[in-house]
Amino acid sequence: MLISGIEVEVARKPIKNMYLRVRADGSVWVSVPKRRSDAEVAAFVKSRLGWINARRAALSEAVAKKPPQYIYADGEFKRLALEFVKLWELRMGVSVERVTFREMKTRWGSCTPKTRRIRLNTNLERYPPECLEYIVLHELAHLLETRHNARFYAIIAQFMPDWKARKAMLTA
Ligand SMILES: [Zn+2]
Repeated sequence: MLISGIEVEVARKPIKNMYLRVRADGSVWVSVPKRRSDAEVAAFVKSRLGWINARRAALSEAVAKKPPQYIYADGEFKRLALEFVKLWELRMGVSVERVTFREMKTRWGSCTPKTRRIRLNTNLERYPPECLEYIVLHELAHLLETRHNARFYAIIAQFMPDWKARKAMLTA
């Protein structure tokens, strides 16, 4: 339904009140009680126009603020990752047996302390090098402490005081 120039998706449901939602992509969705007329729905949406516009503006601002999409040149990402591994092996006094790369859905990296192997998520190439470096440090720190306990984070903080800011970029 087109209301004040805005395409609104209307879902009629066995509910008592009308609910309006602006989705992450800016589309507007309203669920309404079955017996409400189109005119009533339109009046409801119009009464919320200020809020809808503010919400859409906030969403497009959030999109604009997203970190730049880093995509490293072919091979550059892996080269940089291995460089970070070498650097942090020296700084932390640990040694890695093997580094592998894989696209992963749920984690940025993993470490198997027993075999001293680390695996890095290739999706890290979309983030600044600072993020990649933090994940390398994180996985190498597992060679000193396997669990995510206070000691583990003390090690991380000792070597990389700004680790929280780097980690925050990864979840943004
Ligand atoms: Zn970990």
